[in-house]
Amino acid sequence: MSSPLSQSYRSTRSSSSESRSFESAVIRGLAEDGGLFIPSQIPKVPANFLEEWSKLSFQELAFKIMRLYVSDKEIDDKDLTELIKKSYSKFRSEKITPLVRIDSKPNLYLLELFHGPTYAFKDVALQFLGNLFEYFLQKKNKGLPSGSKRDHITVVGATSGDTGGAAIYGLRNKKDVSVFILYPTGRVSPLQEQQMTTVQDANIHTLSVKGTFDDCQALVKSVFSDKAFNDKYHVGAVNSINWARILAQITYYFHGYFQLYRSLSDAERKNLKVKFVVPSGNFGDILAGFYAKNMGLPIENLVVATNENDILNRFLHTGTYDKAPVRATYSPAMDICVSSNFERFLWYMVRASSADKDDLKTGNKVKEFMDQLSKDGVFKVSPETLKLAQSFLSSGSVTDEETVKTIRSTYLETSNRYILDPHSAVGITVAERTLAADGEKSSPYKYVSLSTAHPAKFSDVVNKALGDIKGYSFEKDVLPEELHKLASLPKKIKHIDAVSLKVVESAIEEELSKEN
Ligand SMILES: *Cc1c(COP(=O)(O)O)cnc(C)c1O
Repeated sequence: MSSPLSQSYRSTRSSSSESRSFESAVIRGLAEDGGLFIPSQIPKVPANFLEEWSKLSFQELAFKIMRLYVSDKEIDDKDLTELIKKSYSKFRSEKITPLVRIDSKPNLYLLELFHGPTYAFKDVALQFLGNLFEYFLQKKNKGLPSGSKRDHITVVGATSGDTGGAAIYGLRNKKDVSVFILYPTGRVSPLQEQQMTTVQDANIHTLSVKGTFDDCQALVKSVFSDKAFNDKYHVGAVNSINWARILAQITYYFHGYFQLYRSLSDAERKNLKVKFVVPSGNFGDILAGFYAKNMGLPIENLVVATNENDILNRFLHTGTYDKAPVRATYSPAMDICVSSNFERFLWYMVRASSADKDDLKTGNKVKEFMDQLSKDGVFKVSPETLKLAQSFLSSGSVTDEETVKTIRSTYLETSNRYILDPHSAVGITVAERTLAADGEKSSPYKYVSLSTAHPAKFSDVVNKALGDIKGYSFEKDVLPEELHKLASLPKKIKHIDAVSLKVVESAIEEELSKEN
């Protein structure tokens, strides 16, 4: 049995039994040895959870789940309730993540994760992470004698589009946190740029860098490894390896399952078998489903859907994890060459398929794999480890052409003319394929595909798919008024004209001095 009081965190690469608090895992983001933080054990749901939890609201469920991962000595019940309430107060749907039916196919559902402030699924995690950062800093600063220097974090991140906006909206106006988001000039969509640059809060700074996304990412890495700069400004990260982001995402697997469960008759409930299909990039979203399943949520299968950047799909077919150059696709938020969160999944697979199931040896083995990956760009797991991985995950990869086709066919074949964004369409394509392989009408499964963005954010692809259909209008059918208005708001941008660490660091220092 896992008591919430004993919950602590360890690194995926650690060969020692050293453990950390939740706070330290969240504030640090990455372990000193380069590994990712995982809970020392995966807690189980109570035996009667279906009865007890299925009627709860999203926020109530989030509390039940997070309580199992965070000691009440670190955040007490009252504060955790308040943090959750605040994090989900800006969503446009009362259900936070509503489940809708896609009636072009039998047994197909979509879990809409894009009702947060920036219309991206990353809001579900980043709204919570922003409040957590502020909470821990306030706690530290509260006891300080007056006049002493307050603890402060300078968040620095790079974005190719969606993460930047979600991070900015998660951290705007937070006390003792400053945010710098680097993005490549002219290489994010106009709407994404408007979302990031029209936030006028004093603690938010967007740096438009004359370079590529890779340049931005390299600059952020250099800022992180500049020790003197770090000591002075306490540089923090909000990228998708932060454990709190995974934790916040576990809730919607339960909430999605329960919405489906409640919509069924008693007979259907008894036979309910659910497959979740997840459009994947850095593997954070689907990893949360892995935790949900291991906590006891009866998920039959998790299906990884990738675009043509298909390292995960190839791994699940061959056991070889092999870096390939990134190709630009119609689902840019999934254009990755390695999936950073995959390391967490790997840790569990290596441990469970080993003879002695030893935490310390597992850490050693994962470190070996990751060293190989950075040295040679590839590693291969044992047949036993692959077999185990395949028992949790299946996968499929989708071309741009198929993505467009699915947006079109879903629009034409659903009774409510449902409009998918390209990332969600990658998921639906794989869901339809899985459904066909399982025998469509005779299939015993229900399929829940995750929807990760609102179609308004990817107008080019959506218009390519639907533009010639009579009666379709982007302005009328897709673009929400709130996003339409962004175009006319004043922008706050700092231009960085050279890909240079010195230029970026002095821009950060200059902006920080203006804040105070
Ligand atoms: C980030 C993102 C994804 C990929 O999610 P991961 O957790 O990185 O696998 C998919 N779709 C959209 C729209 C995203 O922003």
